[in-house]
Amino acid sequence: MDSFIKKLSVKTLNSTLIFIIVFVFLTVSSACYYSLRRIDTDEFWEIHSYQVSENINILLLNMEDMETGQRGYIITGHQNFLEPYDAGYNNITNTFSILQKLTIDNPVQQNNLITLKVLIDEKVTELKDSMSLRTNIGFDAAKDHILIGNGKKKMDSIRVLIAKMQTEESRLLKIRTEDLTKINKITELIIIIGSIIGFLFYLLVNYIINNFVIGKIVKKSLFDKEQQANKELQSINLAKDEFVSIASHQLRTPLTALKGYTGMLLDGDVGSINEKQREYLSEIKNANDRMIKLITSLLNVSRVDLGVFTVDPELINFEEISQSVLKELESSIKDKKLHIKTNFEKNIPLLSADPKIVRMVFQNLLSNAVKYTPPEGSISLNIKKEYPDLVISVKDTGYGIPEAVKLKIFTKLFRSDNARIKDPNGTGLGLYIIKATIEQTGGKIWFDSKENKGSTFYVSIPLDGMKKKEGFKRLE
Ligand code: ADP
Repeated sequence: MDSFIKKLSVKTLNSTLIFIIVFVFLTVSSACYYSLRRIDTDEFWEIHSYQVSENINILLLNMEDMETGQRGYIITGHQNFLEPYDAGYNNITNTFSILQKLTIDNPVQQNNLITLKVLIDEKVTELKDSMSLRTNIGFDAAKDHILIGNGKKKMDSIRVLIAKMQTEESRLLKIRTEDLTKINKITELIIIIGSIIGFLFYLLVNYIINNFVIGKIVKKSLFDKEQQANKELQSINLAKDEFVSIASHQLRTPLTALKGYTGMLLDGDVGSINEKQREYLSEIKNANDRMIKLITSLLNVSRVDLGVFTVDPELINFEEISQSVLKELESSIKDKKLHIKTNFEKNIPLLSADPKIVRMVFQNLLSNAVKYTPPEGSISLNIKKEYPDLVISVKDTGYGIPEAVKLKIFTKLFRSDNARIKDPNGTGLGLYIIKATIEQTGGKIWFDSKENKGSTFYVSIPLDGMKKKEGFKRLE
């Protein structure tokens, strides 16, 4: 779920959240609205049942009033005892029509009312007959008429029918009350569930906003800042590389002049010099050479970092170049009494490679082997084909590289402590330059080493030749 949400963009997340909020809100509010409507309807029918029941009772009371009035008149013969009769008689029609309207929806009650009307009419006729006998003939005649019992029977039938109608209405009332209770409970439940869903939803939205939306916005702004910082860093680096390149050029010119003039002085071109002067001039020359070497390395680093160096392959003989580099190192090799072995596989073809770069590789690997091997140690140089590459390896019995720093060996300016102690003059730039260069021409560089036992550095170059690269400057 989390990973799914993470994949969504802030825009999609927003639209999804809004959709879910609207959906939940509409569902809960529709359910509430429906329930409240049902409550209204059920309440209406409940009240309706009470009204029907009440009017049925009024009807019975009307009939009883009429009977009471009739009895009073028959016993007394006085008109004023007819009052309840008249009141009942006047009300009954009105009550009856109310009941008809109220029960219009219920065929059972409508049928009951039809029967009731007949019974009431018959009862009213019977009441009128007895009262007419009292008026016209006298008490006994009316009494005999009552004693026949027809009036009582009609009244009993009316009571039974009214009881039946009340039972029907009670049954409806019970159903409606139960319905109302049920709907009330459902409404309560919907409100509770709605509130819980609302609350859970609030927590969910909160969680999503805190963990994803804000996270994404923060991440995006961090990403933007990082991009900006990277751009700034790149332009600072570029400016720095350009500065190093220009500064190195400017520095190299006076140093080259210095080299030329010290050389002339040492060679006695402007007169002979004594031993002390030769010693000092030699010191100046060595220091100047080291400085030129460092500046050349810095220039190469800036060309590598700016990516402006050229690779211009031509057919070359690797053996020859390596031999010439060994010659350059002859005096140091002699000074340290090192044993040099070379092993060149037969029939190594001429290879398409940049001579400057190949020379730089041999210079770096062989001079390192010479620098970091104690006197009387051995160095062996091997060149052989290992399809699809030509592999150069330089093995020494020197100080080796400590395990802890092996991963840093190719980084810019890195020097291991043991090397620094033995030879303070290194720059930590040689391996960085040749790794970057070799890799950009399709080759590889790696090494094996054991501290105090020795190291072997390998460089592979495709037998197909180095890749050509356009640029502004060659490496030096
Ligand atoms: P430099 O030799 O001028 O210090 P390099 O880039 O050529 O710079 O080498 C970087 C570091 O790698 C060296 O300072 C040294 O610590 C280690 N190194 C390179 N070649 C050897 C080797 N043959 N034996 C032991 N250490 C080596």
